[in-house]
Order: sequence, then structure tokens, then C-alpha cells
Amino acid sequence: MEQLNTTEMQTAADKKKRSIYSLELHEIKDWLSKNGEKPFRAEQIYDWLYKKRTTAFEDMSNLSKGLRDKLTEQFQITTLKTVIQQTSSDGTIKFLFELHDGYSIETVLMRHDYGNSVCVTTQVGCRIGCTFCASTLGGLKRHLEAGEIVAQVVTVQQALDQTDERVSSVVIMGIGEPFDNYDNMLSFLKIINHDKGLMIGARHITVSTSGIIPKIYQFADENMQINFAISLHASNTELRSRLMPINKAYKLDDLMKAVKYYIDKTGRRISFEYGLFGGVNDTVPHAEELATLLKGIKCHVNLIPVNYVPERDYVRTPRDKIFAFEKTLKNHGINVTIRREHGHDIDAACGQLRAKERKEETR
Ligand code: SAH
Repeated sequence: MEQLNTTEMQTAADKKKRSIYSLELHEIKDWLSKNGEKPFRAEQIYDWLYKKRTTAFEDMSNLSKGLRDKLTEQFQITTLKTVIQQTSSDGTIKFLFELHDGYSIETVLMRHDYGNSVCVTTQVGCRIGCTFCASTLGGLKRHLEAGEIVAQVVTVQQALDQTDERVSSVVIMGIGEPFDNYDNMLSFLKIINHDKGLMIGARHITVSTSGIIPKIYQFADENMQINFAISLHASNTELRSRLMPINKAYKLDDLMKAVKYYIDKTGRRISFEYGLFGGVNDTVPHAEELATLLKGIKCHVNLIPVNYVPERDYVRTPRDKIFAFEKTLKNHGINVTIRREHGHDIDAACGQLRAKERKEETR
């Protein structure tokens, strides 16, 4: 049997430890109390992790040596290995990170005039099976821990620290279905939102779901002031079932009921993502049908011209038809925008870089 050297043994031991990034502030406080330490140390630890962005417990110089040792013994500070970093001509940066078990995930930094936004991944792969999406091609490998989602934001923030910039918003629209990894997603939200942590305002965070209905009710009851998006993609239930198999389990009618509950409960408007797939769901009659479906609902529609995925045979809607679709919705008084594309030259649509990488590995 091959012998492991000391560094390899250390790394192997670290992998078994819980990521400190997975802990909400109150959980660190509980841990401190149980370990005979003062709970206020939790704020100091958060300060080191999220304000100073330290990656070693030894460096936390205002904590006692004993506490630093205990932390080192029981926790690790997740670091993500950057395998690929691609910068697009529009400034978008796409990261392919490797996790401790060798799986890879994607994270994207988008630059807007209103700030820097990070798009995070919540699962290695996805089991939802949307027929147009690259993220679901190899199925679900595993959920990400909260700390692995937090680490994506911290790592991008560390890259931005070099130019004194800040991550100002986060979108949970990378690989995976966030509501299929609900508890970890929720901890992630609380950690990045915390004012002792990265302080990303709730109104600057967006979560998107393919429509896991029970979780929509649960999320509504959390009553967080987060932006909420639903991947709708169809104007009627038959069409939606064809595009998104999840609609067979969670039907459009019930989805719309859950959406109304969410709006009533939170007072917030909802966003609908509607991918335009050439010849499938992109005609003016579809737009009319969509307007009827959304009538009276406090919402915003985001039209996404399809991102080409080599394994899928969807084609782009011509520009004039995209505008006709938009205009039809506008005529019905519906708020609508066409999504601006980021990083078109670098496979920036979710799952594309990872899918490409996986294909190269199996070649
Ligand atoms: N699983 C969640 C989060 C992903 S968000 C969800 O489904 O909402 C990513 C968005 O891009 C979703 O709206 C998804 O449906 C959409 N999408 C995926 N593949 C696409 C493609 N090839 N073209 C256009 N939109 C796509």
C-alpha cells in the first residue's frame, strides 16, 4: 500500500472536518459555549472569516492559542481549488473549482454598472432533468454543504480584494436546484446576509427554483426579503411538462397557487424566467397565453434567449420574434425584460463549462 506523507495525511484529516463556513453565527456561539469559551468570540471568528478573509485558524490572533487549536482540531476552512478561470471580453469571470472529493463546480462573477454579482452552484449536477439544461446531463452527484456554497462567494471576494472591489449581489442560479438542497441553501443565505459576515443585503440576493412546490411554501414562511425567481419557461402545463419533467409532479396550476401564496405572504413580487426556445414556446400566441396565465400577479418576466447546449437541439429565436414576444407581454401590462447576456464567449451559461470538462475527461 502506498504511504501517505504528512501533508497528505493532514489534508485527508481536514476533509473529514466540518467546514466552519457551514456554521451560522448562532451555531458558532453554541459550539463556543459547549467548549467553555465566551460566545462573543463567534463575532471575532466571523470577522476573521468574512471581513479579513483569513484562511487559517492560527492567524486569528485575538483568540487564545487553546481556542485556535480547538478550532483547528474540529473544523476546516474550505478552500476551493481553481482549475479554470476564464475572463470574457465583457469582464465576466467564470471559475471552475475543484472540491475536496475531486468533483468540480462552476461559479460566475458578473460585472454590472450597479456592482459585482456572483452566481453560485448548490449541487454537483442536478436531478431535475430540464430538457434544455446542461447542468442536469450527468444527473446529481451530491449536494453541496452550506460551507461549500459560502466558499464560492468568499473565493470570488478574495479575487476582488486585489482591486478593492466588493461582491455586492449573489444569485443562486448556477448548477443545481437550490430547493432540492433546501437546508444548506437556507444556511448559506443566512451566513452571507449576516451583518457580521459578508453583509450581502437580502434585496441583493436572488434564488431561483424549477418549482419544488412544498419548498416554495416553506420559503414563503421564512419571510426573508430575498428576490425570488421561478423557472417557468412555458405558458401552459402540457408544454411545461415537455420542457421540464418536474411539471409532471408539480403541476403548473399548483405552482401558480404557491406563487400567489408567496406573494401574499411576503408582499414581494416574483420573477419568472422564460427561456425562449425557437419554434417551441416563442410565438405571439404563446405570449398571449402567458399574459393570461400571469394576469393580476405581481411579477416580472425575464426572457432568456436560449443558450446553445451542444447535447440539446434547441435553437435560438430570431431577434424580431423575441421583440414581438416582449411587446405582446408589454401590451398586456406585464413587466418584462430580455436578459442581457454575460460571458457569451466563455460558456458562461450554467453547467456549460463543467459539461465540457466532463466530456474531455471521459474522452
Ligand atoms: N435549478 C434552478 C436554478 C438554475 S437558474 C432553476 O431551475 O431555477 C438557471 C436558469 O437558466 C433557469 O431558469 C434555467 O431554467 C435556465 N436555463 C438552463 N439552461 C438553459 C439554456 N440552455 N438556455 C436558457 N436558459 C437556460
